[in-house]
Amino acid sequence: MLANQLARRGVRMRIIDRHPGPARESRALGVQARTLEIYSHLGIADQAVALGKKADGAVLWAQGRRAARVPLGDIGRDVSPYPYLLVLGQDDNERLLGDALRARGFAVEWSTELVGLAQDTDHVTATLKNPDDSTSEVTVPWLAGCDGARSSVRELSGIAFEGAPYQHVFFVADVQMTGSMAPDLLNVYLWRTGFHLLFPMRGTDHWRIVGILPPNLRGRDDLTFEDTIPSLRHEAGAELSFQACNWYSTYRIHHRRAARFHDRRCFLLGDAAHIHSPVGGQGMNTGLQDAYNLAWKLALVVSGRAGAALVHSYEEERLPVANHLLKRTDRFFSLVVSDSWLAGLVRTRVMPKVMGLALRTAGVQRIAFRTISQTGIRYRNSPLSEALAGLPEDGPRAGDRFPWLRLKFAPSGPTEDLYGRLDDTRFNLLVIGQASPPGGVPELAELLRIHEVPRDPVNDRELVRAHIPWPSFYLLRPDGHVGLAGTRLDAGAVTQYASERLHLDLNGA
Ligand SMILES: Cc1cc2nc3c(=O)[nH]c(=O)nc-3n(C[C@H](O)[C@H](O)[C@H](O)COP(=O)(O)OP(=O)(O)OC[C@H]3O[C@@H](n4cnc5c(N)ncnc54)[C@H](O)[C@@H]3O)c2cc1C
Repeated sequence: MLANQLARRGVRMRIIDRHPGPARESRALGVQARTLEIYSHLGIADQAVALGKKADGAVLWAQGRRAARVPLGDIGRDVSPYPYLLVLGQDDNERLLGDALRARGFAVEWSTELVGLAQDTDHVTATLKNPDDSTSEVTVPWLAGCDGARSSVRELSGIAFEGAPYQHVFFVADVQMTGSMAPDLLNVYLWRTGFHLLFPMRGTDHWRIVGILPPNLRGRDDLTFEDTIPSLRHEAGAELSFQACNWYSTYRIHHRRAARFHDRRCFLLGDAAHIHSPVGGQGMNTGLQDAYNLAWKLALVVSGRAGAALVHSYEEERLPVANHLLKRTDRFFSLVVSDSWLAGLVRTRVMPKVMGLALRTAGVQRIAFRTISQTGIRYRNSPLSEALAGLPEDGPRAGDRFPWLRLKFAPSGPTEDLYGRLDDTRFNLLVIGQASPPGGVPELAELLRIHEVPRDPVNDRELVRAHIPWPSFYLLRPDGHVGLAGTRLDAGAVTQYASERLHLDLNGA
């Protein structure tokens, strides 16, 4: 993702990986709405959707009985063009991203390992072990560690990875099976001593099962899928029938966060920066969005259009996101795996009832969708977020992902998908119910696209729904988050924001 985003912005780079080729295991499964929005700018969303399986909700089972339904599709219809969880394996995601990267003229150099690094004030010297076992040194201005939980970049930089392992062991199985599961939905089975998640996969009767090993199987290292079948039947129904198991694996998980995501000329992204329980399907998505956050900033700095201070906001924005995610997944995970009698009771009796009731409330539905889909991630406390006076509290604020709207950009023009119109390699200025400055904002020149939103009944309806007042303006960063927002547009405020907050060099733009 980072390489793709940098390539689109004209940055030269090398991508190395110590493995001989792409991983074959599917690992992460859920692609969230926010990731699909980013994929659409990359031109791979349609392919991903065609390859995957849409789960437009989840069904909660408690002690073998259907207890609640989470209707993601209904809840998210006005929030994102992708109101569902797309079930698509990490291997397929990596292949799509790899194809997109090759189409841009770059490829991963496999069997090439980072074995040493030394930082200077304006460059990093990396020592690489090449496919023929020779070593070489390469000097680069920046280095991004997208190198997983055992990150060499993190370890060679001496950055602590604070946290702990969970005592539970997960298993994952890719099976052909029939049973009580609701088709095309994520089925969550809660039981006194554990849980199972069943993801619908492409193809007939194809499911991916993720769960924790039941107590009687823990500590064994010769397990096969057959060993877990009795506990599965116990939870998900005796009528479960298995035709085939294509893949079975067990793994231990940790919850940890790097003490820093940025050290001088090096960055940490994805699992190198944070790891947590896979419950909630957030891990891969969070890593992809780390990259989307860093790429536009790094590209502006590399091209000399912004001062190096701009990249400090990567850690300032993404570290709190990781903190929040770790806290949330840890709390939820502790509840769904705890062996205590009380937690078992909460899991099987209290949780399904409370969730069933709460999810009938529109407000709770909205929060649930925004949290799971990652469309609610925001950077309100970031140094890049500036709100001028006069905007309502319940509308989009500086730092928020600007909402997905369908708008008319000319009085007699068609209604268009705003996200389709935004250029994510530039800043986008939405000028609502007022004229844009004659001559635009010349200091930002090619870095900015201006979109006027005229008064119109269609626009009125959409803006009222999103609590956006007339007149107003929103300067969106390339990643679609609001940078500067206010009511009456003043081009001077935009240039001041660009130079003071974004550290843009306005003479060179
Ligand atoms: C069995 C399994 C099931 C999972 N299920 C889920 C799930 O359901 N949902 C979910 O969200 N997440 C899940 N995860 C986690 C998810 O796979 C990770 O969050 C994701 O892979 C992180 O991506 P990444 O690119 O940050 O790191 P990785 O995928 O680990 O990639 C790191 C890359 O860096 C390379 N590398 C490492 N060190 C060096 C070096 N020194 N030099 C050169 N290259 C190096 C490695 O070869 C590797 O290719 C699962 C993981 C596993 C193992």
